[in-house]
Amino acid sequence: MEKDRSSQAPPPHVLIFPFPLQGHINSMIKLAELLALAGFKLTFLNSHYNHERLVKFNNIAAHFERYQGFEFKTITDGLPLDHPRSGNWFLDMYEEALELKMKPGLREMLENISPPVDCIIADGFSGFALDVAKELEIPIIYFRTSSPFSFWVYYSIPDIIQAGELPIKGSEDMNRLLTTVPGMETYLRCRDLPSFCRETDIEDSIIKLYVKQTRKSPQADALILNTAEELDGPILSQIRTKCPRVYAIGPLHAQLNTRLKAKHGESYDHFSNTLWEVDKSCIFWLDKQPNRSVIYVSFGSITSTSREQLVELWYGLLNSKTKFLLVVRPNSVIGKDGEGEDVVVELMEKSKDQGYIVNWAPQEAVLNHPAVGGFFTHNGWNSTLESIVAGVPMICWPYFADQQLNSRVVSEVWKIGLDMKDVCDRKIVEKMVNDVMVDQKEEFVQSAAEMAKVTNQSVNVGGSSYSNLDHLIEDIRIMSLKTPKTKFLRNESISI
Ligand code: UDP
Repeated sequence: MEKDRSSQAPPPHVLIFPFPLQGHINSMIKLAELLALAGFKLTFLNSHYNHERLVKFNNIAAHFERYQGFEFKTITDGLPLDHPRSGNWFLDMYEEALELKMKPGLREMLENISPPVDCIIADGFSGFALDVAKELEIPIIYFRTSSPFSFWVYYSIPDIIQAGELPIKGSEDMNRLLTTVPGMETYLRCRDLPSFCRETDIEDSIIKLYVKQTRKSPQADALILNTAEELDGPILSQIRTKCPRVYAIGPLHAQLNTRLKAKHGESYDHFSNTLWEVDKSCIFWLDKQPNRSVIYVSFGSITSTSREQLVELWYGLLNSKTKFLLVVRPNSVIGKDGEGEDVVVELMEKSKDQGYIVNWAPQEAVLNHPAVGGFFTHNGWNSTLESIVAGVPMICWPYFADQQLNSRVVSEVWKIGLDMKDVCDRKIVEKMVNDVMVDQKEEFVQSAAEMAKVTNQSVNVGGSSYSNLDHLIEDIRIMSLKTPKTKFLRNESISI
């Protein structure tokens, strides 16, 4: 009689390979921890640069040594360590750095690693990882860390062009509805397309890069998305027409919290995985503020703002009379002749009774603090999910890529916030802050609370994301038994 193969086999060895950016690392490291909790052997492959920062600002050794066989390895991202990596460097340098230098590093690592890798989970924006996996015959699952809506729009761009709905013909065209993205016909305007679709040249290299990376996805063995069926069901159905095996297992930060809490109780150890030094003093400041009285203002890890935009935002906040917690990352304010940062010192001084400014905040803790009543966000997908889970309404000021679309969904589909896309004017800032924090507070609080409830249910035992993660874990176990490189050894240990 054949014994149960999966219980006899050694744990699967999974390599997690994030795209080298904070937002991508955040969700990938959470997935890595979830798989380690399931008993898998994990290798997390970081870029040298990001790993150095991760080690500098977090006690990763203490956190991950509890998982047997959890290892961090590093390769180059193709740029020298002293390169500033500011703005869209990863788009401008994609071929030159990532494809040309990171790809061989990945291949070499996979050829030499012991025990061999049974399954790669790679960022869905790194098509070169898929090429390497195919060459080495290792199963590969894609994890697309941006929103499912954006995945579907990136995928549909060739059809939008084919239908003559792109390029956009000038600014008066921005509110035109697009009819060629299935499932989004009633709300997707030109204005909500990813920022690079505003190029008048549809042969633009960035458009081509996004389309190329996204259209490779069906070649992967499966696709993981950081969302829940309850949040993005209709779009997931559309995506499944192209990639039939989709695992919606998010929001991952909430799923990890649920599973850690179940294992260790309320006092579980929360790992922040940040690449900047966290300023926790803002929590003490929040402790002194009344419930739902503060608007948290933060635009993620890549965005830069001009000096003028920051001043407009700041006046809008000040004039709204609402207390605010503002994050201004070092080197993120662009001014003439390098005069960016001085404005921050000036603002801090002038608004110390009403606002608190930090370089980098413990965002999850901030959003879950009772004093926070709204989130002024750029709508990076992690930030959007963190706000949803915490039940905090949003004011959306998208910067690039999927953010233009996420802000539309937040305001028009989910109705848990307002969209300030394409403007930055102190009067509009003031009005929107007052709408969310005062005038329409009750309705926004209610809709955000309902959204939080269904989303949090999805990551509890029996919820859709919880079950989907269990399926993913089981499918990787089965997959690892079939991996050609390890099959021979594994078969030896199975008695018939
Ligand atoms: N973040 C943080 N502190 C900050 C600003 C951001 O911890 O002061 C975290 C935030 O919680 C989120 C991530 O950085 O998980 C940013 O990812 P997101 O996808 O929102 O945006 P990106 O940085 O990729 O544009």
